[in-house]
Amino acid sequence: MRLIVTGGAGFIGSALVRHLIHDLGHEVLVVDKLTYAGDRRTLASCEDAPGFRFLEADICDAERMRAAFGEYAPDAVMHLAAESHVDRSIASAAPFIHTNVVGTMVLLEAARALVAGYDAARRGAFRFLHVSTDEVFGSLGPTGAFTETTPYDPRSPYSASKAGSDHLARAWHETYGLPTIVTNCSNNYGPYHFPEKLIPLVTLNALEGLPLPVYGDGGNVRDWLFVEDHARALAAAVLRGKPGETYAIGGRAERTNLQVVHAICDTLDRLRPGPRPRRELIAFVADRPGHDRRYAIDPAKIERELGWRSSVTFEQGIERTVAWYLDNEAWWRPLRDKVYGGQRLGLLDTP
Ligand code: NAD
Repeated sequence: MRLIVTGGAGFIGSALVRHLIHDLGHEVLVVDKLTYAGDRRTLASCEDAPGFRFLEADICDAERMRAAFGEYAPDAVMHLAAESHVDRSIASAAPFIHTNVVGTMVLLEAARALVAGYDAARRGAFRFLHVSTDEVFGSLGPTGAFTETTPYDPRSPYSASKAGSDHLARAWHETYGLPTIVTNCSNNYGPYHFPEKLIPLVTLNALEGLPLPVYGDGGNVRDWLFVEDHARALAAAVLRGKPGETYAIGGRAERTNLQVVHAICDTLDRLRPGPRPRRELIAFVADRPGHDRRYAIDPAKIERELGWRSSVTFEQGIERTVAWYLDNEAWWRPLRDKVYGGQRLGLLDTP
């Protein structure tokens, strides 16, 4: 297949592109603006693959998107480009609305124009996969889990912008018959995760003996999925998913933020012993405004209908991730310096 992947130089997008190229042998055109969160080095292993191409462009640029779609003539579009950091959305919402909402509309329109020129067979096989988050569903109480039918209740500018884009993807299916599929996934973690996010931030602060800031009481619960499992789920959704459907994706691995931080500290103490236990570096800080208490996903539908299942346990994934950061300082050091400069203590976020 020929696939366009937007946001392919980001954390999840690059894991997906590596999977599509190396494991599945597809051809991929990455469309990415290379914002502060995009890094072409995440795609180093794909650069020489015959089926790999890269276009540095803004998804909000309607003319360029229409031209790129027309020239490449993909069998599917996998849309991951987004502004993705909740804390940044609280500080400044405009880029989130622009990229996440307007950008998605631009891509849906480019896809609609593209398939209008396809013959019936190609049009029937075309897919537009819109990649989204479980944060659109709001906050859960102590029990229950989000499913595909959970009503939307976004509570941060980031999740509101993602909710808007999910509705657009569905509307383009209902109104124009564009074969869109939406996925809503829980928190990802793994290699190449930008150092401002929870797991890399805590790993790197702990490595350098710096305080580990934890929002509120550390009791906020998230479900965690290893990024390579998410990449496999997205490939399954685009290859076997049904147009107009939504698939909730999760790792069946609920942890409080404090449990996550403890797991990182203990793994690091084992892999790279320091002068004292890293848990002593934990520092509780004022909670984030509107901080959702608990997210959990019931992934039964994608497991049943598409035969996907997470394969990496949280313990295995944390070990692999911490080990990867220990081995890849050349990747994260310049990014960490760029974002935090001399002041190494970043705000703690969940991804
Ligand atoms: P990321 O911030 O690591 O990567 C985003 C990528 O999009 C970057 O490469 C960036 O350069 C690119 N981009 C941003 N604005 C752009 C624009 N206007 N035009 C072109 N490219 C642009 O994000 P991520 O964590 O990899 O998330 C990818 C997608 O998955 C997002 O849509 C996000 O909402 C969704 N998602 C993320 C998680 C998670 O845990 N990280 C969970 C569920 C869903």
